[in-house]
Amino acid sequence: MSSTSSQIVIGLEVHIQLSTKSKLFCSCSNDSFNVAPNTHVCPLCMGHPGTLPVPNMKAIEYAIKAGLAFNSEIPHETKFDRKNYFYPDLPKGYQISQYDQPCCVGGFIDVPLDDDKKRVRLRRVHLEEDAGKLVHPVGANYSLVDYNRSGTPLIEIVTEPDISSSEEAYLLAQKVQEVCRYISVSDVDMEKGHMRFDMNISLNDGDGNQVTEISEIKNLNSFRSLKKAIEFEAVRHKEAYEKGERLIHETRGWDDDKEASVSQRSKEDAPDYRYFPEPDIPKIVLSSDLVSKIKRTLPEMPEERKARFVEEYGISKKEAGTIIANKYVAEFFENTLSELIEWASTLEGKESKKDDEKKKLAKLASNWLLSELYGLMRPERVKIQEIKITAENFAELIALVYEKKVNSSAAQEILKEMFMTGNDPTHIMNEKGLKQVDDIDELSLVCDTVIQENNEVVESIKEGKESALQFLMGQVMAKTKGSANPQKVMEILKTKIIGG
Ligand SMILES: [Zn+2]
Repeated sequence: MSSTSSQIVIGLEVHIQLSTKSKLFCSCSNDSFNVAPNTHVCPLCMGHPGTLPVPNMKAIEYAIKAGLAFNSEIPHETKFDRKNYFYPDLPKGYQISQYDQPCCVGGFIDVPLDDDKKRVRLRRVHLEEDAGKLVHPVGANYSLVDYNRSGTPLIEIVTEPDISSSEEAYLLAQKVQEVCRYISVSDVDMEKGHMRFDMNISLNDGDGNQVTEISEIKNLNSFRSLKKAIEFEAVRHKEAYEKGERLIHETRGWDDDKEASVSQRSKEDAPDYRYFPEPDIPKIVLSSDLVSKIKRTLPEMPEERKARFVEEYGISKKEAGTIIANKYVAEFFENTLSELIEWASTLEGKESKKDDEKKKLAKLASNWLLSELYGLMRPERVKIQEIKITAENFAELIALVYEKKVNSSAAQEILKEMFMTGNDPTHIMNEKGLKQVDDIDELSLVCDTVIQENNEVVESIKEGKESALQFLMGQVMAKTKGSANPQKVMEILKTKIIGG
């Protein structure tokens, strides 16, 4: 009758904090990172009676911009609604959200898989205000409330239950982060809590019939916990199905330390939010003029940029994918290349070779960016927009490597110094004497000294142990502070010891 392969069915709600200057309904600052508690607050976002919310048009524009980037329809009219519930971090006793007339309807996100893509449909993208934050001091028998976050604008992106693995959910979340950064509606900084997930999951049998009740997990605040929570729930649902149980429709909490979910409340206990239209905010007309104005501000999207990088610069899809995944890295790479291309145009050479040269430079720049520069950035946990190295200076370093003015190890040393001081590479090269020594006479003299000092090694090479040449090469490098041209040193050593 039924096939044996059951399939998990996942829907996501992704909350993104918008990077507007002020909050959603008052003029308080929207940036409360590292700010003393309850300093960015006013009577309105503290929920005092008699205050009137004024919608932040910028937040509405950002939400529409996100909707357009995610292929949603923008209706002619949108409105706000009250979602009623009681909690200490919600001083009004209700949250202003959107219920039946969200600002963006439908849409989809294409999730890139290895050689394919998966289209996940969206139900809606809507705007809402965030609540404050409860703080539980360690060892205290009380809790504190910080209202700095109260009234911060969020968009909620609601998918259809089209996701069928933790990997797909993870890639979708990354895609959402990437796109929101590209269109500059949010920094989507996970450490600052700019992105949170609610996830719902159930199980289908092989014929598409739902065989377990939906579990919802709220407030997952990292990609990792999203993935772990799905993996945990998938096992729980499959085990229940195998035992012939259906589970109950419930909300569960996620414990990051135990990597397990725990029951919080069943569907019967689910709060009735008694949504009703927010009486203090009139309906908002979204004119076609406004929507086309916002549409014109949309930049090149990540997937388009990836295809262009592969086509224009000849780098691999994988490299292009890594570079475009972060808007700032993509911009750094592109600025570096435009410097390099301008530089290359001043070099002598046939026009027909230019494209070839451009691709070689792009390949070199991409290698140095993804391995060497990332290698310096990663341990320091620093972002590319925070480093001291400018694209102009990075391009200059690539040019030095390309022209073989420095060898690879010297270039690494120069890059390290650039990373620490922000100085330009030519300056560092000259100051540290790292310019590659190509002069045969000069290199010969150093080789002679090394040969004299290492009689035993030289004998062993003559007896056939050619691998020992590397040791001598190391000695030459040490004496020249790493600046010798390694190919030339090797040639000279071989000639002198083994003979031409
Ligand atoms: Zn306020």
